[in-house]
Amino acid sequence: MAEQYDVIVVGLGAMGAAALYQASKRGAKALGIDRYHPPHTLGSSHGDTRITREAIGEGEFYVPLVRRSDQIWRELESLSGRRLFEQSGGLIIAPPSASATFHGEGDFVEASARVAMRHGIAHEVIDAEEIRRRHPLLKPRSIDRAYYEPGAGVLRPERCIQTQLDLARQAGAAIQMGEKVTGYEATDNGVTVTSERGRYCADKLILAAGAWMADLLPGDCRAGLRVCRQVIYWFEAEDISQFDPQVFPWVIWIGETLEEFWSTFPAPPDGEAGVKLVTEQYHRASHPDAVEREIAAEERADMYYRLTEPRLKGLRDNCLRADVCMYTVTPDEHFLIDYHPESERVVIASPCSGHGFKHSAAVGETLAQMALDGRTEFDISSFNLARLAGSTTV
Ligand SMILES: Cc1cc2nc3c(=O)[nH]c(=O)nc-3n(C[C@H](O)[C@H](O)[C@H](O)COP(=O)(O)OP(=O)(O)OC[C@H]3O[C@@H](n4cnc5c(N)ncnc54)[C@H](O)[C@@H]3O)c2cc1C
Repeated sequence: MAEQYDVIVVGLGAMGAAALYQASKRGAKALGIDRYHPPHTLGSSHGDTRITREAIGEGEFYVPLVRRSDQIWRELESLSGRRLFEQSGGLIIAPPSASATFHGEGDFVEASARVAMRHGIAHEVIDAEEIRRRHPLLKPRSIDRAYYEPGAGVLRPERCIQTQLDLARQAGAAIQMGEKVTGYEATDNGVTVTSERGRYCADKLILAAGAWMADLLPGDCRAGLRVCRQVIYWFEAEDISQFDPQVFPWVIWIGETLEEFWSTFPAPPDGEAGVKLVTEQYHRASHPDAVEREIAAEERADMYYRLTEPRLKGLRDNCLRADVCMYTVTPDEHFLIDYHPESERVVIASPCSGHGFKHSAAVGETLAQMALDGRTEFDISSFNLARLAGSTTV
């Protein structure tokens, strides 16, 4: 007889680890299953740091999620004694009316400032001269200006995931790693989950499989989810102390076209060697198992000579490490969080589109509420599945 659980969580990355922690903290009998061994480097949640900010220019309906996440990160820090967040401040640099949209928004400096104003979030909008005066390593163009949020910073994704898994286990959750879920069936009586190793029964199921979500959804649900390969680079610094979060903010650089977009991260002293840089691309999509994991010399050179050198001082042309990571993107670049169209026993969560980590702690709470209470206190109406109807998968 398969063991019976209140809830099973499939996928224990950013969202699944948070959901498992929240469900088991509430006393639910929970099982988490992952095909790999999170935190791992094969999905969407690795790379040492993730930007977090409160004024979410992608849409102000994200503000309650990020604020609740901030509370949960602090709670997790105090429960575990681990440092999960480094305050560095953050700069979004863009020319006025940037024609390149960022995560679906046109003028992201203006959009962020608008949200900050409406929600009482400390911020400034500064010109290029002021950016250079405060941060001599940065070389904005004279037309650029920046949204600055002093309370922003970076989260440590691997530690956040590990901490939530550890605390979930302490609260009684069962965790099975290295086990791929191959299917599930929901009936009036419950849900049966099938994996490469066995069958498990539960009252409710949360699917948080990241880039592999489409494999677990029926055709009309998966339409519109595109998996786009991204690359994270770490370049050698002339003096790494100049990039310490205490003195160096994260920077989102937005240019006239999407090809000019990139971001620079502060380097926590206990983090990866070098300074982390990230680009974004949405042109090429593939199945996550077929994603090209090799990073070509031309990609490293492009990152350094085309994007970094014209805008940032203090880095050498020496790429210490590079990793592939994946965005799972919806057509409007917002999240997908909803009940499965065929059964409310199954909650589906694909909250990525390249900006999900900062919200993941509260998304986990949302998913646990949806599964255990049949409703959530958060407004997730913008993340519904119905809006993707008619989308096509590339
Ligand atoms: C390069 C890059 C930079 C980013 N920067 C930021 C940032 O600065 N700020 C920000 O907020 N967000 C950022 N994001 C987005 C954010 O990291 C993601 O939204 C988030 O980490 C996605 O979490 P997830 O749980 O959906 O996926 P994952 O963490 O990848 O978890 C999915 C899990 O499901 C498991 N799984 C899949 N299929 C199965 C199966 N069949 N059976 C069992 N297990 C399965 C996988 O092994 C994996 O562990 C970035 C993303 C990338 C790629």
